[in-house]
Amino acid sequence: MLSRQSIVENLAAIAGKERVITDEQVLKENSVDRYRKVQAVFGIYALPIPAAVVKPLDAHQVSAVLQFANEHKINCVPKTGGSATEGGLETIVENSIVLDGSDMNQIIRIDPESMLATAQCGVNLEVLENACRQQGLTTGHSPQSKPLAMMGGLVATRSIGQFSTLYGGIEDMVVGLEAVFPNGEITRIKNVPRRACGPDIRHVIIGNEGALCYITEVTLKLYRFYPENNRFAAWALDDMKSGFDILRDVMTAGYRPSIARLYDAEDGVQHGFDQFAPDRCVLMFMAEGPEKIVRATAEGIEEIVARYTGWAPIESKIIENWFNHLNWGPEKLVEEKELIRKTLNTGFTTEVSGNWGNIHAIYENALDRIRNEFAHVDDLTMLGGHSSHSYQTGTNMYFVYDYNMTDCKPEEELEKYHIPLNAIIVEETLKAGGSMVHHHGIGKYRTPWTKQEHGSAYYIMKSLKDVFDPNGIMNKGTIFPIEE
Ligand SMILES: Cc1cc2nc3c(=O)[nH]c(=O)nc-3n(C[C@H](O)[C@H](O)[C@H](O)COP(=O)(O)OP(=O)(O)OC[C@H]3O[C@@H](n4cnc5c(N)ncnc54)[C@H](O)[C@@H]3O)c2cc1C
Repeated sequence: MLSRQSIVENLAAIAGKERVITDEQVLKENSVDRYRKVQAVFGIYALPIPAAVVKPLDAHQVSAVLQFANEHKINCVPKTGGSATEGGLETIVENSIVLDGSDMNQIIRIDPESMLATAQCGVNLEVLENACRQQGLTTGHSPQSKPLAMMGGLVATRSIGQFSTLYGGIEDMVVGLEAVFPNGEITRIKNVPRRACGPDIRHVIIGNEGALCYITEVTLKLYRFYPENNRFAAWALDDMKSGFDILRDVMTAGYRPSIARLYDAEDGVQHGFDQFAPDRCVLMFMAEGPEKIVRATAEGIEEIVARYTGWAPIESKIIENWFNHLNWGPEKLVEEKELIRKTLNTGFTTEVSGNWGNIHAIYENALDRIRNEFAHVDDLTMLGGHSSHSYQTGTNMYFVYDYNMTDCKPEEELEKYHIPLNAIIVEETLKAGGSMVHHHGIGKYRTPWTKQEHGSAYYIMKSLKDVFDPNGIMNKGTIFPIEE
């Protein structure tokens, strides 16, 4: 093993001294992500501190760093926007290298003829989206972290945005890519609308969470942007079951609203929905696109809701205003830190998916088990969730849990609350036949169930790791459970 100093010297020779950061506070902050946000608020950094953060300028520098790491078996943690929530950025191995692509931040081309936008991995999504909107176009991608996340991480985590029911997840948007593998190979997948030239190799790269390769450039599809036609509609409902049923009816009838969300009453409280729909679930849609499609979509959804009983309409302006303030920029992160420090109250989420046939059972079973079995249930200040991404065959469930850290040191919070709550939700989802991760990635805390999630297809997953990263230098402990 090379010494820490030798790693830093080699990185400086590859990327230039000014691109290699060794400041201790920066290194500490780069040893974690939001999974350990409570510890970070109190300045506790329990994981090994990386040897350096390197900020490459192009794919050739990424290639040289990876070749060096591969030759010396040094763990590399890819990073771009740093908004990861599942431990994907944690440096769990001594003297890791954090490969931070945020300076690769050029929009390479917006092509309104072929409807393509190409950007380097460090381009922030909001920046790219705004540049597209100036030309009357949109990527259609709008995760709540749009002001924070960057192209590399968005693709690496298989992210999804709030308009997914119309535009899909990032996997439906990526046309082509450039990625660098641990042996230094720079690979480019070209931009074509479709092809039948073997398996779709984009999917080796999309969702790899930095555990197989480093994404350096991304090309997304573009759509025309018609914000003037956006139409919201919302209803208060008695229960989640009828909400899931309406969502299913809308999707299977062939309507494609861009937003389709269903909140339970508990989750609704933290969004202020109790002010106009106390103790009720809230179902909302937005239709967007050309005017005629919007009108037909809105009318179709209203017809479907009218077939049910027990609903009450909600003024659409209220929901539109609420929705327009949903995103998280850096200022909200600062506010959140202050709040945790002051109140010792925090919250996390676990997002899963299921078919129409089992999603309600997943929702009920996970919440029931937490209420009945979780040892510190009295410390929970919120337990609920929402569905925010629907498909022809099912939907997701985004569980939300907040707790007061009673009699608990910040360093005990994970074991006492977050890990067991996450485990119950994952176990109940897998038991009912759903998927344990809908869009945040496996990271490092759902790896105990990676094999169960994939079953016999884990053979394919493991083979990818063995072939592309035989020395195991890419983001150790992410996606793939540590075997030894
Ligand atoms: C407030 C908030 C709201 C969020 N809302 C959403 C949401 O609506 N939808 C959603 O899908 N997610 C959401 N997330 C999760 C997160 O924003 C996404 O996972 C996002 O895609 C991460 O992008 P990033 O650039 O910040 O990646 P990072 O945090 O830098 O990295 C994320 C993962 O990708 C890997 N990675 C990063 N860059 C590269 C690269 N160039 N090549 C290979 N691997 C790489 C990292 O190793 C890590 O495992 C939210 C997070 C926060 C904090």
